Amino acid sequence: MLNFERVKISHEDPAKRLKSFTLEPVKEYSTDEATTEASRCIGCNICTQACPASLDIGGYIKSTAVGDPAQTVRIVFENLPFPAIIGRVCTHLCEDICVLYDTGGPIAIRHLKRYAADQFQDYGEIIDIPKKKFIGKHVAVIGGGPSGLTAAFYLTIQGVKVTLFEKLPALGGFMKTGIPRYRLPQEILDKEIGFITSQGVDVRLNTEIGKDIKFSQIMNDYDAVYIAVGNQTPHMTGTPGSDAPNVMHATEFLRRVSFGEHIDVGRNVAIIGGGFTANDSSRTSLRLGAKNVYIMYRRREVDRPGYPSLNADEELEESVEEGVNYMWEVTPFEYVKEGGRVTKLRYWQNEMVMEPGGRAKPVPKKDKVLEIDVDFIIEATGQETDYSFMGDEFVRRLRLTPHGQPIVNEHNMTSIPGLFSGGDSTNSNRDLISAVRDADSAVSGILQYLNVMDQVVEERLPTLDRWKKYSTSAAKMAYAERGR
Ligand SMILES: Cc1cc2nc3c(=O)[nH]c(=O)nc-3n(C[C@H](O)[C@H](O)[C@H](O)COP(=O)(O)OP(=O)(O)OC[C@H]3O[C@@H](n4cnc5c(N)ncnc54)[C@H](O)[C@@H]3O)c2cc1C
Ligand code: SF4
Repeated sequence: MLNFERVKISHEDPAKRLKSFTLEPVKEYSTDEATTEASRCIGCNICTQACPASLDIGGYIKSTAVGDPAQTVRIVFENLPFPAIIGRVCTHLCEDICVLYDTGGPIAIRHLKRYAADQFQDYGEIIDIPKKKFIGKHVAVIGGGPSGLTAAFYLTIQGVKVTLFEKLPALGGFMKTGIPRYRLPQEILDKEIGFITSQGVDVRLNTEIGKDIKFSQIMNDYDAVYIAVGNQTPHMTGTPGSDAPNVMHATEFLRRVSFGEHIDVGRNVAIIGGGFTANDSSRTSLRLGAKNVYIMYRRREVDRPGYPSLNADEELEESVEEGVNYMWEVTPFEYVKEGGRVTKLRYWQNEMVMEPGGRAKPVPKKDKVLEIDVDFIIEATGQETDYSFMGDEFVRRLRLTPHGQPIVNEHNMTSIPGLFSGGDSTNSNRDLISAVRDADSAVSGILQYLNVMDQVVEERLPTLDRWKKYSTSAAKMAYAERGR
């Protein structure tokens, strides 16, 4: 009898996972499993509609199905230069909309991409990118995260000289400093970032624009500029007691751990927030030795960031398996200090009150004060973009949306001619694949702005909005519908 069931992926034992900062919770498909899973795909490419970067998913899955993972990698590279990274941590909305969802489960698109990419240590052996003559244009990219790296790659292979400025001592942005090594191993970052920069990108680490080099100088010295600075300025709650040394923003906490620091979090850790960052902080705390880890979120489970999606469900499942405790509908209002350090966290339980727009609002029930013992508090309460690095003159000319994001045209050019922007600072999805998509779009915009379209190699240009009929939110709606 034909078997249409999704090929199960195995997981490492949670107890073993907790002893390691580098052991990946999700194992990889074997060749036999990958080929079997890929063979289920009917190639309809509905999933491509949900992919912000418009990858030819049906096309690359077919290559794996016929035993040609190298071709899978080549197809992914049309729009995305780090398949092994995305194959591990993509939000994979494509799977939420897969037409086989109710027929054995969605195709395991993300696992298949990881499988194919991991077959090759050096992409140079399977992807032929002949050196292109310098086309006489210099572009500066500010920020070495996924968006900056993608733009640098696709511009460099067109013969543009790209200088990439990164303020930290390492490239990767939140792929390096946010997502922990058990989800994204260092050797995977090294392999894929190394391949990008080896195309001839001039990388300047430890160089902060606005501090080490004036932004106005960059605007003068380069023919065009792509800013991909992310949302790096932490937003703290300001809860009384949050100035204590054992209260830290999640992005600082995760960055310090990613650069090898052992932070003593003690036994009891409370994490405020409910998204990716809260989840990664909780699991990192367990790996640092915490015994009781609580994620405290002010809304209901169904209101958490990223939900409804398979990705949000998988994240929750993996953290619960590891022992993270979720406290829904709570409002922490005081971190109680003793001898300068926080030892208790006081909170109220909320009730959810429906608002006219249909969204439920958390309202604290203040008649009863509840508290837990804490040794460490991590605030995973969001980040903002700070444009002060551009200097007053440029900040005045940069038109922003009411949410503080630069207004960009369909090719990601801002209100300042020659200045392009993308990634977390600019889009609302705030995930890797959307950061890639912005860069793909900016690459076309930059090449048009530089008036060099007659010199580009078209096959090396990212394909934008391939077969787009629906928006990415169609995937969310499809997933929510299934849950009913
Ligand atoms: C903890 C955590 C977990 C996440 N997990 C996932 C996940 O599983 N899947 C997913 O899809 N997304 C995830 N995300 C979101 C994802 O990481 C971001 O959407 C993505 O990294 C945004 O890319 P970016 O290039 O816009 O910015 P960033 O990754 O933020 O990179 C910006 C870079 O610019 C540099 N920079 C800033 N200012 C300057 C300056 N003035 N001069 C020079 N350099 C500068 C910064 O140092 C940084 O390296 C996660 C985020 C976090 C924080
Ligand atoms: S929607 Fe599912 S079946 Fe259709 S191409 Fe995509 S992965 Fe294959």
